[in-house]
Amino acid sequence: MHLSRRGFWAALLAGIVAPGLIPAGSLAAPAGPAGPAALTTTYQVVSATDTTLTMRFTARNSSSAPIDVRSLDLPRAHQIGEVLSVTRDGTPVEYRGKLVKLAASEKSAYTRIPAGGAYTVDMRLADDYDLSRAGTYLVTLTSTGLTSGRGVVRTVTGIRGSAAALRTTAGTVTTSIQRAGVAAVTLRFSNCSSSEQSQLRTAIGNALTYATRARSWLAGHTAGGGNYLTWFGAYSPARFNRATTTFAAITDELTNRTVDLVCDAASPYMAYVYQADHYRIHLGRGYWPAAATGWDSKAGTLIHESSHFTVNGGADDHVYGLAEGQQLARTDPNKAVDNADNIEHFAESLG
Ligand SMILES: [Zn+2]
Repeated sequence: MHLSRRGFWAALLAGIVAPGLIPAGSLAAPAGPAGPAALTTTYQVVSATDTTLTMRFTARNSSSAPIDVRSLDLPRAHQIGEVLSVTRDGTPVEYRGKLVKLAASEKSAYTRIPAGGAYTVDMRLADDYDLSRAGTYLVTLTSTGLTSGRGVVRTVTGIRGSAAALRTTAGTVTTSIQRAGVAAVTLRFSNCSSSEQSQLRTAIGNALTYATRARSWLAGHTAGGGNYLTWFGAYSPARFNRATTTFAAITDELTNRTVDLVCDAASPYMAYVYQADHYRIHLGRGYWPAAATGWDSKAGTLIHESSHFTVNGGADDHVYGLAEGQQLARTDPNKAVDNADNIEHFAESLG
């Protein structure tokens, strides 16, 4: 544990407060009925300063057999989705970290925790959550495959994260695609090779075709049904309006805005964005093998990522995948219209 500003700052975990000591400790809870019975999860404060808050998450396997946990359900050093729930004094703290689109192999990846072993990760929470206000922060795991204990941190002053530093880019190249008529999207490339830039220009054009096709399809099917039913479920005026608004906003992005495309060769994912970092899409190594169009294509992935931006409706990643998305449409249409993969797959289904 490391505290750089003792006294300026106080962090503690619920129930384990030692007077006079720099707070440290862990709060353990047995996994609940939904989780593997032999896994016990703990949270521990590793480092707390006015600029960082690092909590260590541990899932310990106390059984005599290895346990496989879906990797998506485990927190990572930087969250790749909303696997955690963070509240300050009972109010949800918005996740502002990466939302990624996984390559196919990662959707079904499992992390093996050996018998008697543990999965441990140090989470830099100030990078992904706004902790700038003092209060009592409660951290819990929300993933469905694993239940957990919870961590509590009380701060007497705010913590300034370093999320802004993560987003700095270098080597920016600007280009623009002229569309027939007046408007033109402006593209800025960072760290993309000329081949990657060429593929992205094509993908942006194809994504715009997807978005405009989705808009006109919806305009002609105002009672839903058909492909709408498959991907967004039962019709309701509010949900239908949400879908229409989403594709109108994405069309606007791909027609009138400046889109930043950042090639991140260090990332294994297809792509990721930060919801509040509008019109900036990061492409990982998993992006380039995808087909130009069709299911989970380069063009469709741009639709998926663009749907995450708050200005475009702020969709989340409730589930990934074709079968999973269709199931979501049947069982929870409110989430289906808010699910980035469903928005992508609806657009791709019209191709
Ligand atoms: Zn996503």
